[in-house]
Amino acid sequence: MNNKEISIVIPAYNEAENLPFLCDEIKDVLKNITKNYEIIIVNDGSTDKTKEVIENLTAKDIHISGIHFRTNFGKASALSAGFKKAVGETIFTMDADLQDDPQEIPNFLDKIDEGFDLVSGWKQNRKDSFVKNSSSKFFNFVTSLLSKIKLHDFNCGFKAYKGEVAKGLDLYGQMHRYIPVMAGNEGYKITEIPVHHRKRKFGKSKYGPIRFLNGFLDLLTVMVLTKYFKRPAHFFGGLGSIALFLGFVINMYIIYLKLTFGNIQGRLPLFIAGILFIMVGIQLISLGLIGEMFVKISRKNNSKNNIA
Ligand code: UDP
Ligand code: MG
Repeated sequence: MNNKEISIVIPAYNEAENLPFLCDEIKDVLKNITKNYEIIIVNDGSTDKTKEVIENLTAKDIHISGIHFRTNFGKASALSAGFKKAVGETIFTMDADLQDDPQEIPNFLDKIDEGFDLVSGWKQNRKDSFVKNSSSKFFNFVTSLLSKIKLHDFNCGFKAYKGEVAKGLDLYGQMHRYIPVMAGNEGYKITEIPVHHRKRKFGKSKYGPIRFLNGFLDLLTVMVLTKYFKRPAHFFGGLGSIALFLGFVINMYIIYLKLTFGNIQGRLPLFIAGILFIMVGIQLISLGLIGEMFVKISRKNNSKNNIA
């Protein structure tokens, strides 16, 4: 573990009190590991003194640099900007609020040395409110079930990446929650380590349980973009075929009634539902075919990018 190039990316939204302590703690740990490191703090449009604090820190230490957003673009955008700037062979992300303990950094590096591309922290003994802990458990359960990636804590802010993994991520919205899903779908090797989690001392949490709602819509996007991205005709075509089949069965039944009894026996709502299913089915199948055309075009452009 000698002389590694390490970048640490820290998204910060109103974290003025925490940043000086965090930088000190990180430097304390890294001095035993490497001289070759950088700390990139991304100020996500803070309205407190975060900007001034970062400017103070960067003036005093050449290892520290800052990126300032004009307004609050969200954690995913902050991470994305940090990754773009980072040059380290290994890139870490840490929350700015002192909840992640820098003492864990060597444990992450051990896993990277073992050959993992992404090491995700697992706040096994999480120090947040009951509502937050339980909604997060539910979120992690569903995400793991849908993505088939076996992690306990997808959204842990403390992660280590091989440089190319972090730089290859396309992050926006609440997508930071699904980084392991995206990386897993790219075929990267992912693991997790339990990390010591601390209570927030200064400042407030920016995420309430309500945010999980938006997060689930993003999960749908991730699932479609990753799992079905290369075969939209299967995804939309599958749903469309089911709808078409249901519509067909319903309307055959209606025709049977009409032929047998001379009228449809008051089954008008069912008849309308049958027609609707057929129309929706045809539309979904067409959507899948249009999707296939897009994939074909983009494959032509990117055919060289998937070589390991
Ligand atoms: N954060 C950010 N932009 C935002 C919200 C949060 O950069 O719009 C940062 C925040 O400053 C912290 C990290 O993301 O460093 C995690 O946020 P927080 O601690 O509020 O989340 P929690 O730990 O409560 O889930
Ligand atoms: Mg926090």
